[in-house]
Amino acid sequence: MSLPTQTDLIIVGGGMVGVTLALLMAQRMPEKRVLLLESMRFPALPENKPLPYTAGFDARNTALSRRTVQAFTDLGLWSQLQPHAVPIHEIHVSDRGHFGFSRLNAVEEQVESFGQVIENAWLGVVLLAALKQCPSVTIADGVEVQQLITSERDARVRCQTASGEVTIAAPLVVAADGTHSQCREWLGLSAQWHDYQQTALVTTVATSLPHEYRAFERFTASGPIALLPLPDFIDGAKQTRRSLVWALSTNEAERIKALDDDAFMQELQAAFGRRAGRFKRVGQRHAYPLQLMVAPKQTVSRAVIMGNAAHSLHPVAGQGFNLCLRDALVLVERLGQASADQQDWGDATLLAAYEASRQSDQQQIIRFSDSLVRGFSSDASALVLLRNIGLVGFDLLPGAKPTLARYAMGLDHV
Ligand SMILES: Cc1cc2nc3c(=O)[nH]c(=O)nc-3n(C[C@H](O)[C@H](O)[C@H](O)COP(=O)(O)OP(=O)(O)OC[C@H]3O[C@@H](n4cnc5c(N)ncnc54)[C@H](O)[C@@H]3O)c2cc1C
Repeated sequence: MSLPTQTDLIIVGGGMVGVTLALLMAQRMPEKRVLLLESMRFPALPENKPLPYTAGFDARNTALSRRTVQAFTDLGLWSQLQPHAVPIHEIHVSDRGHFGFSRLNAVEEQVESFGQVIENAWLGVVLLAALKQCPSVTIADGVEVQQLITSERDARVRCQTASGEVTIAAPLVVAADGTHSQCREWLGLSAQWHDYQQTALVTTVATSLPHEYRAFERFTASGPIALLPLPDFIDGAKQTRRSLVWALSTNEAERIKALDDDAFMQELQAAFGRRAGRFKRVGQRHAYPLQLMVAPKQTVSRAVIMGNAAHSLHPVAGQGFNLCLRDALVLVERLGQASADQQDWGDATLLAAYEASRQSDQQQIIRFSDSLVRGFSSDASALVLLRNIGLVGFDLLPGAKPTLARYAMGLDHV
């Protein structure tokens, strides 16, 4: 593959965020050339099958907020994603061993759903197929960025391709190269870390009761468990597939991951209870160490960090990708305006204004997700009491529930 030496925008990282940003750019400014650089090879797109797992599109499932679904609808992609997605009509939040629980119901909130759950592997198929149809975007997979240097004139990335080293220049680089972003380091941007000392076990389970479009969030002494509805398999099982995200202390996660299927389901049943019926089958388990990472500064002249490279959250509230997507929407809008005004995209003031406009949404979501984890991680009795009041409060206090629901749906932003 021959790469250009000059382009309008370089995106480093072809995970969910880099690919979505490239699609948004192609739709908003088809006249601008975008180069997407991804170190892994994208597998050939299988017909009517989910994408074999890649670094960015893996075994996880993503709860897409209503705002995110709207963005994919605006991209003309929702009709292709919808057959692989399941709406959430009810969210059931409970606290094992205590009296509080809360139920958020879509009908009561006067919305058609709280969002949709989709397997990342299916997102990968649809998004990559769409991106391949965008003439303004060059997809360069199997190309690792090894250096990023910015200057007053441009930003330059040095890459390793199969046929040797190449340097590419652009007025702006967006680095969406993940939580451990090297670009962030090359740009001299710092990161603040908090290790939750938890690992999320992610897998698919089948239950004896149908999901009835209900998502469960269960807080246990060892960590939260999220059980989300998934689309049926073709084997005829009706509404029994669910996505499990089980956050545990890292030692416990290692032990439980290694159990055989029956022992795993027994432990899960004991921790989760029987609200979903019996756990009947479990798929392959995948482990994700959990930490909070926030880059306090996300732009410099000629570069922006985005996606997990800018903020990486605990998945307890299912907000990470939804927040990243709202960042991407705003950046593309600002670049569109700058383009119309013939303004330099790499201008530090322009990028700082983008960053400032994203602060409040980012801070609220980061605080919201973090306080859910910390609030429910301790078993101190005052906290137990508070969180029970808090949970019951969602059902009793007028106004409290809609606020939480609006957060989860991503409606208060953009
Ligand atoms: C268990 C779990 C469940 C989650 N559930 C939800 C949910 O329900 N809803 C939600 O909104 N969010 C959820 N999230 C968060 C969501 O998965 C992330 O926000 C999202 O995956 C971030 O994508 P990204 O593209 O920024 O990063 P990544 O997926 O890490 O992609 C980065 C890409 O950059 C590439 N790369 C790295 N370095 C280089 C280099 N030098 N050169 C070229 N390429 C490079 C990598 O190969 C990779 O493909 C969840 C997260 C976890 C852990």
